[in-house]
Amino acid sequence: MPARRPIPEAIQNQVHQRANFLCEYCHASEQWQYVAFTIEHIIPLAKNGTDTLDNLALACFHCNRKKSARTTAIEPQSGAEVPLFNPRKDNWSAHFIWSADRLFIIGLTSVGQTTVIALSLNRERVINIRAADKTVGRHPPPGDPIQSEN
Ligand SMILES: [Zn+2]
Repeated sequence: MPARRPIPEAIQNQVHQRANFLCEYCHASEQWQYVAFTIEHIIPLAKNGTDTLDNLALACFHCNRKKSARTTAIEPQSGAEVPLFNPRKDNWSAHFIWSADRLFIIGLTSVGQTTVIALSLNRERVINIRAADKTVGRHPPPGDPIQSEN
């Protein structure tokens, strides 16, 4: 395994801007966090992933930790191994939608549903943050799909 080199600042900046400063998994906004988001390797370096833009994603600390080196996870209903959401290949809105109350991410596809569980996208702490952010108009991010009320 090659030694881990620091990702150049210019590349890091591009990853942040491309992601609109959102965690590319849970769509938390870096703007309101205490801790800077991390640059995540979609395919880990240990599995020959690269340090190039097409293999990098912006992720919050929790999503990065939960995803770890995985690229797939077991779908609970079927027991099948399915790919995790890949921010470079998959469109967030095609796989996820906000619940009508805007607090929960609902998986629309097998990939989406498996990723919600594997990365704990609806963990209790983040629900509380979403609820607080919603009251001040910071959540959900503009343009995200939201389930209709009925
Ligand atoms: Zn996240």
